[in-house]
Amino acid sequence: MSLKDKIVVIMGASSGIGAATASLLASQGAKVSIAARRLDRLEEIKEINPDAEIKAFAADVTNAGEVQKVIDQTVSAFGRVDVLFNNAGIMPVNNLDQIARDEWQNMLDINVKGVLNGIAAALPVMKNQKSGHIITTSSVLGYEVLPGYAAYSGTKYAVRAIMEGLRQEEHKNNIKTTIIAPGSVKTELFDSINNDEIRNNLKESMKQPGSEMMALQPDEIAQAVAFVIDTPANMAVNEMVIRPTGQE
Ligand code: NDP
Repeated sequence: MSLKDKIVVIMGASSGIGAATASLLASQGAKVSIAARRLDRLEEIKEINPDAEIKAFAADVTNAGEVQKVIDQTVSAFGRVDVLFNNAGIMPVNNLDQIARDEWQNMLDINVKGVLNGIAAALPVMKNQKSGHIITTSSVLGYEVLPGYAAYSGTKYAVRAIMEGLRQEEHKNNIKTTIIAPGSVKTELFDSINNDEIRNNLKESMKQPGSEMMALQPDEIAQAVAFVIDTPANMAVNEMVIRPTGQE
């Protein structure tokens, strides 16, 4: 099976990497369920892909029931789930001494519990089908830690660990797992930084001459996602780290 007629669910599809992946997969004939909190942005993705088979769902990944509904409604509409792409995430950068308890909680809920909610909803369906593919967006910060990014890094290390455990438990059931670990990508992710100074400095740095060498575009990550989905049945790309060439 190629991308054509693959049934793909993307959590966190309203902007950036998730939105680009939805458009790319749909343009190649996949049937795509897209989910996020901003339904208006999901509807825009449907509008720019008028010929594609896309279903949009308002869902918060921290809510297990809402995530389950996305999977259930995808099965009702399309008959199965071939791929779940756990992509929702936020990155509220701050040093640990800012004791940003609410930020930590929110980030753990979205970046970690959200992934577990996706796995919990899709895994029984995939086991029943005796095939499936779960892809989760980690980060290069799931492999290294930088000052200011400790809590975010913690969430991205966590999802790498969860996905490796999933691989060990489910490879024998014909379920593929992939971690996508991007470096810097030009998206709205900086908007989730609550600290005004850090957010503005990072946004300014993205506008500097030469910064295009330092950040990838979302559709470049989408191409990587399409590649890992479109592999032969006996081949699973378990991890893919993708940095802009100019990134340290
Ligand atoms: P965006 O901010 O553009 O996209 C984030 C997506 O996550 C949006 O669709 C957002 O939708 C969704 N999301 C956030 N919270 C929730 C929630 N509670 N429930 C459902 N969806 C949610 O940024 P990116 O495209 O960059 O981020 C995608 C992933 O890539 C994240 O996991 C991020 O950590 C990771 N990443 C990004 C990098 C980068 O440089 N941009 C580098 C490495 C990893 P909505 O707000 O509508 O709910």
